[in-house]
Amino acid sequence: MVLTMGSTLILERKAKELVQVLSHREGIIIEKSADQMDETQNSSARELAIRNADRESASLRDVKAALQRIHDGSFGVCTMCDQEISSKRLAAVPSALRCISCQEIADQTGNQSWNPMMDGMLTAA
Ligand SMILES: [Zn+2]
Repeated sequence: MVLTMGSTLILERKAKELVQVLSHREGIIIEKSADQMDETQNSSARELAIRNADRESASLRDVKAALQRIHDGSFGVCTMCDQEISSKRLAAVPSALRCISCQEIADQTGNQSWNPMMDGMLTAA
């Protein structure tokens, strides 16, 4: 599969990128925690940094999972319906583990079952 070769390179580059970004972020978070005076001012910036780091960790996990699937030979197959993921989608999102329809379902059920922002807003009001 020609696509797999290209995807491996893209994914490996992406993984390297994410590792770099994440190790840099950790430095920022630790530095800000150490500064007690600016604690309040920085807390929201730190929270944002942590949220971004969380998202990047999740992306890195996806990228690593995709690389693992290239080795397994299961790359490009949807983990939910076992149908082939379209090459267009894989070109856009090389770490995609699901086809578009299954991803939509996963996103919807994910939002419904877990929404901490909504919980926080309700208890605050
Ligand atoms: Zn699917």
